[in-house]
Amino acid sequence: MRRKVALIGSPLRRRHSRVMHNAAFAHFEIDADYELRDIPADQLAEFVIEARAPEWYGFQVTAPYKELIVSHLDRVEEAAEEIGAVNSVVREDDGSLVGFNTDAPGFISAVQGAGVDLQGSRAVVVGAGGAARAVVWGLLKAGVSSVVIANRTPDRAAELASSLGYLGSVTAVSTGGGDFAGALERCQIAVNATTVGMTTPGVSFDVAQLPSEAAVFDLVYVPPVTPLVEAAESRGLVVRNGLDMLVNQAQIAFERWTGVGGSGPVMRKALDDWEGAESGEA
Ligand code: NAP
Repeated sequence: MRRKVALIGSPLRRRHSRVMHNAAFAHFEIDADYELRDIPADQLAEFVIEARAPEWYGFQVTAPYKELIVSHLDRVEEAAEEIGAVNSVVREDDGSLVGFNTDAPGFISAVQGAGVDLQGSRAVVVGAGGAARAVVWGLLKAGVSSVVIANRTPDRAAELASSLGYLGSVTAVSTGGGDFAGALERCQIAVNATTVGMTTPGVSFDVAQLPSEAAVFDLVYVPPVTPLVEAAESRGLVVRNGLDMLVNQAQIAFERWTGVGGSGPVMRKALDDWEGAESGEA
């Protein structure tokens, strides 16, 4: 039986996940296909019924369904529940569908893979959307001493800080206010979790304000070299774009579905080859 997985969302702008998972299926000789399903919200229930069939390993979920999908599942793992977003679903042998979140562990592995020690560190996360939420949750769980959330719309940062405040020291500032510069000057980890650098040109913070030992993580991966990555590199800071997180989160989902670990290098190579051939855009 040929097995299936899919990414559901609308609009689906990227093919990275399909490229990574299908390369890993081929490499590990697993007869399966990762499909892209751009579906409207009123077809979500119908899709979920389809995905309970035995040929399905599960599926992944992107905007705008990471919250909406929860009501269609049998169970949601505690971390995903706390983060408030499901981006991956596994079909268990009895046909039940279990939601989990791979963004938070994918991000934390990317930070650790860059050799950055999170324990006791001060972090600044710019952005207050879904990705920021997973990142802030992951950082606090991984033992940072504090997170400052900075956002263009300060109310959204305040809301996120108050909802995750039970995990540790989280404060909110406006990217337009004076407290933002002070937080950048004191931090050891600075994260761009906005769409700036992808949909909007420019940078969400000025790397000149960071101390020289700070590490910079840009969640954006299209283009692979964002203006923020370029600026951090030219200051000699440790810096990573969003591809490490993307590959790590895919590897986690792949292992949950197939039981096969260690697919990251195969996925990364497939992305590098494909991006070289197609200039990175889906
Ligand atoms: P989202 O929920 O739409 O949030 C967007 C965030 O960007 C908000 O904080 C928004 O601020 C801010 N923003 C948008 N335009 C801005 C501008 N011109 N100036 C300043 N801030 C601006 O998006 P998301 O799902 O969190 O995704 C955020 C980024 O993370 C995207 O680039 C996405 O591709 C990336 N991502 C990467 C991975 C990975 O694996 N590498 C995984 C998930 C997401 P306001 O609140 O003020 O609107």
